[in-house]
Amino acid sequence: MSTTVLRTRGLRKEYGRGATLVRAVDDVDLDVAAGETVAVMGPSGCGKSTLLQLLGGLDRPSGGEVTLNGRRVDGSGEKALARIRRDEIGFVFQAFHLMEELTAVENVEFPALMAGRSPRAARRRALELLERVGLAERARFLPSALSGGQRQRVAVARALSNEPSVVLADEPTGNLDSAATIEVLRLFEELHRAGQTLVVVTHDARIAATADRLISMRDGAFVDETRLTGGTTGQLGALVGLED
Ligand code: ADP
Ligand code: MG
Repeated sequence: MSTTVLRTRGLRKEYGRGATLVRAVDDVDLDVAAGETVAVMGPSGCGKSTLLQLLGGLDRPSGGEVTLNGRRVDGSGEKALARIRRDEIGFVFQAFHLMEELTAVENVEFPALMAGRSPRAARRRALELLERVGLAERARFLPSALSGGQRQRVAVARALSNEPSVVLADEPTGNLDSAATIEVLRLFEELHRAGQTLVVVTHDARIAATADRLISMRDGAFVDETRLTGGTTGQLGALVGLED
């Protein structure tokens, strides 16, 4: 039996009111099992980013529930929510959001330092993570000296800093060229194999192909769900020519 890491029931987020009311997320029920990769696809403006923000406690729902490891997130106070975001969730954004004045390793160790780890332990872990994403020799580089794909790999390493229960990625390859997209794709495949629970919003069929499940979103709601078979690069992977 699989454990549910992330669960929503009747999740809603509305913006505006009256004639300008937008139902950005409209009655979403989602269960993400431990070790599962879920991809969410849908047209621009259908609510994907809003959904991820609600899942990660970056924004508060208008209604419904978000549960992480059996604990309600949506009703938490600001302090508790900040702790959940820091310790239990890893975020990866389209625009990387690295701190430009810090080196790669300083970016990666930052969340661990914030969580109260010793500088030595945080540094050791950050260097391990950079090695894992294939950037050990770039540890002392500033983000400005890294390619887009390398920056996003640093951002993924940072997201893993506190061993999050789930990584939430919002169009992680949206700013990347095709070669860099493959770098990030390989990394997500590796995370998946290592059992990391992952929710990824993407326009890229190659990224979606790494998922166990593909959810289509329209106008704030889930309209279709496909279970992908055949491992991390299954049918979709074959379709887009990713077979080795
Ligand atoms: P997606 O990520 O799928 O492109 P978003 O979640 O960003 O979609 O947006 C969903 C809908 O909610 C859109 O209609 C968008 O204009 C609206 N929206 C998002 N954020 C806000 C906000 N802060 N204020 C008002 N409307 C918003
Ligand atoms: Mg978006």
